[in-house]
Amino acid sequence: MIRKLLRRVFKRGEPSPHPVEIIPAERHGIRQADVSMGARRTCETLQQGGFKAYVVGGAVRDLIAGITPKDYDVATNGTPDEVRRLFRRARIIGRRFQIVHVMQGAETLEVSTFRAAHDADTLKDEHGRVLRDNVWGNMEEDAARRDFTVNALYYDPSTGQVFDFHHGVRDLQRKTLRMIGDPRARYREDPVRMLRAVRLAAKLDLRLDPMVQAPIREMAELIENVPVARLFDEMLKLLFSGHAVECVKRLREDGLHHGLLPLLDVILEQPLGEKFVMLALADTDARIRAGKRTSPGFLFATLLWHEVLANWETRKKNGETPVPALHTAMDEVLDTQGEKLAITRRIAGDIKDIWLLQPRFEKRGGRAPFRLVEQQRFRAAWDFLHLRAQSGEAPQELSDWWLAFQEAGNAEREAMLKPDTVAKKRRRRSSSRGESNQDAVPPEPTIAN
Ligand code: ATP
Ligand code: MG
Repeated sequence: MIRKLLRRVFKRGEPSPHPVEIIPAERHGIRQADVSMGARRTCETLQQGGFKAYVVGGAVRDLIAGITPKDYDVATNGTPDEVRRLFRRARIIGRRFQIVHVMQGAETLEVSTFRAAHDADTLKDEHGRVLRDNVWGNMEEDAARRDFTVNALYYDPSTGQVFDFHHGVRDLQRKTLRMIGDPRARYREDPVRMLRAVRLAAKLDLRLDPMVQAPIREMAELIENVPVARLFDEMLKLLFSGHAVECVKRLREDGLHHGLLPLLDVILEQPLGEKFVMLALADTDARIRAGKRTSPGFLFATLLWHEVLANWETRKKNGETPVPALHTAMDEVLDTQGEKLAITRRIAGDIKDIWLLQPRFEKRGGRAPFRLVEQQRFRAAWDFLHLRAQSGEAPQELSDWWLAFQEAGNAEREAMLKPDTVAKKRRRRSSSRGESNQDAVPPEPTIAN
């Protein structure tokens, strides 16, 4: 304790190793009007309350790069309690390191108190991974503990100035992703930074500084020590970044997938399914860029589909009846992958809904098609079928037929119906043998919302 205090006091006397550069609007290019109203208001309220307040991190980086930020973080020297008291709608979240969620209209701003960089007293695991990161500090210290120089920029909406301790604006303009401090040490503290490097470079079209890139291959296995849930969150960010195809390509080049990221092994190590999975990722990228809805359930359903297909085929060859075999195959794949990939029960439910509707597309006679289009999950299931057709696994004609069917009026739909061959066959067979028959068409499962 005393040692720490002395070090602090001592440090204050030293000249700052990172003199701050104050960059005016004409050099960084952020226009006040481009910053969300909620972020501006939050900073203003904090400043009027006597605190420092800046928009920080990814939002500043994105604004300078000309990308609309998806959310805003604010950094301040006020403590969480002091911050909360200034706002009508605000609550403190997190136990280990508290931050404040401030609600402004439909926006939620994340307000955090400046944190200090690590020092010798920081708690780490045996590989050097930082386990606790919860000491308050000043703005300069807060900047130093961030990962990349482009992520350590502080924008003051009231003056339009950017505070830059590590030449982040220059790096952004030169399109380079550079680490603050020694990349090896920073990867050891938190191996997830390797994934962040790849994701941010893909998102912002940056070149990885050679010092940032070089250690990744040899340090990749440190990722194994990261808790599964954290890795899952980071992988979701990557897959839903709007640049998933590019990220996957870069991860592969940088040697970051094999055996380390179960999710990527699933993507990259299925010869049959690779085309399908890459199509699905490209489709997700396009949807995100167009501002359309996406869901983890849909994406995971695509990632694991070929495993389910292979499992299902084997079971059918072994004489199992198709419908129960599909259920068993689905459960088996979800059981083995679910835990590794940290798939939640809710997502697993969504995945199954989409899979279970696939065989029902084959039935194009009788009343079945009318019931299928009314299913709540119909559209997602058809999107899935469409991808299957594009990859060559399902007939294109089938996908086209269903597209036409859903858009047609009632009379047209009736005219489109195909002879219900399966149903007829069943009737004939079961009447001749006098027994019920498990056929190839799965029953209609009840789909939960
Ligand atoms: P995006 O929001 O576009 O996914 P981001 O950089 O904003 O990217 P967040 O996870 O929102 O990512 O993090 C906000 C900020 O917190 C970052 O800009 C960075 O300054 C800091 N940060 C996040 N993760 C780390 C990390 N692992 N190590 C150090 N700093 C980090
Ligand atoms: Mg962010």
